[in-house]
Amino acid sequence: MVAKIIDGKVFAAGIREQVASHVERLKADHGISPGLAVVLVGEDPASQVYVRSKGRQTVEAGMTSFEHKLDATTTEAELLELIAALNADPAVHGILVQLPLPAHLDEALVINAIDPDKDVDGFHILNVGRLATGQKSMVPCTPLGCLMMLRDHHGSLSGLNAVVVGRSNIVGKPMAQLLLRDSCTVTIAHSRTRNIQDICRRADILVAAVGRPEMIDSAWIGPGATVLDVGINRIPAPEKGAGKTRLVGDVDFASAREVAGAITPVPGGVGPMTIACLLANTLTAACRAHGLDEPEGLTA
Ligand code: NDP
Repeated sequence: MVAKIIDGKVFAAGIREQVASHVERLKADHGISPGLAVVLVGEDPASQVYVRSKGRQTVEAGMTSFEHKLDATTTEAELLELIAALNADPAVHGILVQLPLPAHLDEALVINAIDPDKDVDGFHILNVGRLATGQKSMVPCTPLGCLMMLRDHHGSLSGLNAVVVGRSNIVGKPMAQLLLRDSCTVTIAHSRTRNIQDICRRADILVAAVGRPEMIDSAWIGPGATVLDVGINRIPAPEKGAGKTRLVGDVDFASAREVAGAITPVPGGVGPMTIACLLANTLTAACRAHGLDEPEGLTA
């Protein structure tokens, strides 16, 4: 069997289009322009790239982008003051503080200072609790993107055996919660899991969020399984020239696609869905803030 490729670039473009058309209607019918504030502290080059990309895609979707770039020496009090101002600003429907923060800032304290209803990353402790207890919440973007792709591919996920490899707060745990909510039988595997290959091989849905290049190969995958590769790892690529690198996932794509039924590539799989879902979450937050119906198909 050669797996179907789930094309995240095409899927994400579809999500962005849906968001943009909802935004157009919100503006025309209600005079509301959803606004996303992104806060970047310091000069981390990867974070700068992400923030630029988020700002550009926000504007392309017809929403308002507010960028706050703060010096690496910003104090916790200064950052909390900015968050309080954004919480109080009715033009701002979503707030995202780009992580990681410089070491002198307490990430949990900062994230939990964001108004939970504007917490478009879904990392606030209240949103974590709401997701775990089945209440309406903001859902972390990467797992939300995975869920959308899985629903699209399978229709109903009810009763399927899902294995999530990785138990981080930003990917593994919320992914498992979402799959559970869609009535999968969920196993979370991690670095201490015994017989991990056997467990993974029994999965109908295998989500890899590990951060280890190409760790999961065909021996981990049951025939016909759906494999979502969240991992983004940069490895040396001497074939491209001295000092060159390339991106790979946590899954050994070439071997996995011979066994899987469907699989996301890296790059071009789960990655593009993350910002698309950030835009979807901002739209959802704006609709909720104004007591309007949420956009169908763009929430968990
Ligand atoms: P973390 O490092 O926070 O978590 C990694 C998890 O993998 C941990 O739970 C760890 O287990 C587990 N793990 C590590 N080694 C093994 C192993 N040998 N066998 C089984 N499990 C193992 O990573 P993140 O969740 O933040 O990210 C995971 C990957 O996803 C990274 O490559 C990251 O770059 C990528 N990512 C991609 C995004 C996107 O937009 N596509 C967004 C976010 C992340 P333990 O808890 O026991 O240590």
